[in-house]
Amino acid sequence: MNFELAHTPIEYIKGVGPKRGELLRKELNIHTLDDLLHHFPFRYVDRTTFHTISDIKTTEVDIQLIGKFKSIQESKTKNGRRILTGLFYDDTGSVEVTWFQGFKLIKDYIKLDKTYVLFGRPNYFNGTFSFIHPELEEKSNAEQQVASVLQPVYSTTEKLTAVGLHSKGISKIIQNALELIKGKWQEVLPLKVVEGHQLISREEAFLYIHFPQSEEQLQKARKRLKFEELFFIQISVVWQKMLVSQNNKGFIFREIHNHLRTFYHQKLPYKLTNAQIRVLREIRADVTSGKQMNRLLQGDVGSGKTLVALQAMLMAVDAGFQACMMAPTEILAQQHYQTISEMLFGLPVNVKLLTGSTKTAERREIHRMLEDGSLHILIGTHALIEDTVSFNNLGLAVIDEQHRFGVEQRGKLWKKNTQPPHILVMTATPIPRTLAMTLYGDLEVSVIDELPPGRKPVATYHVTEAHRLRLFGFMKSEIAKGRQIYVVYPLIEESEKLDLLALEQGIENLQRAFPLPDYQFSVVHGRMSPEDKAHEMERFVKGISNIMVATTVIEVGVNVPNATVMVIENAERFGLSQLHQLRGRVGRGAEKSYCILVTGNKLSSDAKVRIETMCRTNDGFEIAEIDLQLRGPGDIMGTRQSGLVNMKIANLATDQHLVQVTRDAALSLYKDDPKLTKPEHRPSLLYYQHLYASSASYAKIS
Ligand code: ADP
Ligand code: MG
Repeated sequence: MNFELAHTPIEYIKGVGPKRGELLRKELNIHTLDDLLHHFPFRYVDRTTFHTISDIKTTEVDIQLIGKFKSIQESKTKNGRRILTGLFYDDTGSVEVTWFQGFKLIKDYIKLDKTYVLFGRPNYFNGTFSFIHPELEEKSNAEQQVASVLQPVYSTTEKLTAVGLHSKGISKIIQNALELIKGKWQEVLPLKVVEGHQLISREEAFLYIHFPQSEEQLQKARKRLKFEELFFIQISVVWQKMLVSQNNKGFIFREIHNHLRTFYHQKLPYKLTNAQIRVLREIRADVTSGKQMNRLLQGDVGSGKTLVALQAMLMAVDAGFQACMMAPTEILAQQHYQTISEMLFGLPVNVKLLTGSTKTAERREIHRMLEDGSLHILIGTHALIEDTVSFNNLGLAVIDEQHRFGVEQRGKLWKKNTQPPHILVMTATPIPRTLAMTLYGDLEVSVIDELPPGRKPVATYHVTEAHRLRLFGFMKSEIAKGRQIYVVYPLIEESEKLDLLALEQGIENLQRAFPLPDYQFSVVHGRMSPEDKAHEMERFVKGISNIMVATTVIEVGVNVPNATVMVIENAERFGLSQLHQLRGRVGRGAEKSYCILVTGNKLSSDAKVRIETMCRTNDGFEIAEIDLQLRGPGDIMGTRQSGLVNMKIANLATDQHLVQVTRDAALSLYKDDPKLTKPEHRPSLLYYQHLYASSASYAKIS
C-alpha cells in the first residue's frame, strides 16, 4: 500500500478516535493503519451451517440455530436487576435467551409467529445451555444474504470490548480502514514474483483475509500474505548472509598441524567418527579460507561435539592464536575444562577456567596471561564476554549449547579482536531444516549425524505413581550392578515454591527407600552456591554417590558414562526437546541405559504426544520436528531475538514448503538485483525498510 497511508496513526481511522486509539496501542500493540490491517482474524465462523438445539454440546464455538420464540418476558434477578428472557425452540428442544439491555427494541423486533436465525456462543449454567445477547435475524432476511459468508473473528481484550471493540467492532474499523485506502494500494512484491507464483494482488489479499466470500478466496489470501511475510524475512536473511560473507575477512590459520598432529596420534582415546572427520574438514576449510567462519555445528547429545571443538581450538593455537569456549552453565564449563585439560595433558598448551566464581587472584592471573598471550585456551561461562576480559589475539570462539545465548552475546565475541575471530556455535538441539535456514541463515551449518560406535538407544518407558515400588526395585538392581542414576525434577520460576516442595518431598521419599549407608546421594539445584554444586557433582562424577537428584541444571552437557538410568519426575511438565536433552545424559557408556518418564494419570493431549514420542524414538531430528509442530517456533532457541516471533500469518512448522519457495525467490531476486536498486524493485526496497526500520539490530548483528 501507499506508505504514508500505511503509517496513518490508528486514531485517524473512522470509528477509532483518541480514546479507542490509545487502547488499541496499549492492548494490541496496534499503532498504525498497517498494524490494524495485519490484525488478522484468528478464525472464521461459518454462517452456512446450522445446528439444532439438541446438538449443542459445547460452549467453545459460536453456532447458528433456526427456530421461533415461544414466549418473551421481563423479570428481575435476585439482586434486583431487570432482565428480559425469551424461550427459543426448534423441533429438537428449547433454550433460554437473555438480554440485559435494549428491551424495547428487542420486544418490538421479535414476533412469536416468525422464524429467526439465532447466532451466538452458548453459555452453560446450572446444567443447561442458554444464550446471552445473541445475534438475531428473521429467516427470510437471512436467506437473502449471500449464503457463503465466513465471518471473521478477531482477538480482543476486555478493555477493548468495553469501548465497543469486540470482534464485530474491530471488524467494523478494519472495514473503514480498507475503505480509506481503496484504490491506493501499491504492490510490494516484484511483479515477476507475483506472476510467477500466481499470487493475488495485495489489495485483494487484505480484503479477502478480513472479509472472505468463500473458502477459496480465503485460501488465496492466506497464500499471498504468508508468501509476502516469508519473502521479506528471507530477503533479510539473504542480505545478512551476504553482508557477513563479504565484509568479514577472517584470520588465516596457516600452520595447523603441530599440536593437532601430536594430539591426534598420541592423545586421541578413540577413532573419530566419519561425521566428526567430515565436520573437522569443513572447519579447516573455513579457517584457511581468508573469510571469517560463522558455523553452526548441530549434533545430537552424545555425538562428540566437544572433541571437534577441542581440535578446532588446537588449530587456532597451532596458528599462533588464542581460542575460547563458552558454556551456558558453571557445571558444564567446569566439566569441559576438566575433560580438555586431561586430554591435553603433556602438551605445551595452557588452559584455564573463568567463571563467575573464579577468585580474584586467579582472575588477575588469567587476565595477565590472556593479554601477554601465554594463555592459549580459555574455557568459561558468559564471564568470558565481559568487557574486562581482553585477549592478546583471539582467533576462534566456540559457543556450546547455543540456545542459551542470545544473538547479542554472539555479537560481543566478535569484538574481542580487531578483526572478528572465527565463530563455531554448537547445539545439541537439532533444528529442523526450515527453521535453521531462516533463523541461522547467516551461518553455515555442519551436522554430526552419527553417534560414536557402540551406543545403544536408550530404552524409554512411561510409568505412573502406581509403579513407584517397581521403579525403586529396578533402580536398586541397577545400583547393585554398579551403575549410577539421575532423578530429575522440574523447577520453573513461576511455581518455584511448589516445585521446591516437591523436590524436598521427593528426596525424602528416595532417602527412605534408599537408606544410608548403603546408598549415597548427590543433590544439585539452581539455588545452591556454585561451590556446593561443584562438590555434589564431583561426588557423582567420581562414583561416590549412586543417585544424583537434580533440577534441570544438569540438562545440558554433563558427561558421566557410568550413569545408566534417567528418571524424570513429572515428565509431563517438560518440553519435548528438554526431555530429549535429559535422556541424552545416559546411554554414554557401554552399558544398556534407560529413561523412565514418571507422570500423573491425567495427561493433556500435547503431553501424551510428547511422552509417546519419547518412548518411540531416539532420533533428535524427528523429535525436533514434532516439537516444532507442537509448540511453534516461538519457544525454540534464539527465535525470540530474531523477530520471527512477530510473524503474523505464516508458520515455520506448517508452511515449510513456502519457506523453501520464498527462499528460492529471495535468492534469485538477490542475484538479479543485489541491492534492489532497479526501479521496478523500489517498492520492495521501501517496504523492506519499512518492516525492518524498527529492528535495525536484527539486520546488523549476526
Ligand atoms: P556432545 O556432542 O553431547 O557434547 P560429548 O562431546 O560430550 O557429546 O561426547 C559424548 C561422549 O562421547 C564423551 O564421553 C566423549 O568422550 C565420547 N566420544 C566422543 N567422540 C567419540 C568417538 N569418536 N568415539 C568414541 N567416543 C567418543
Ligand atoms: Mg556437549
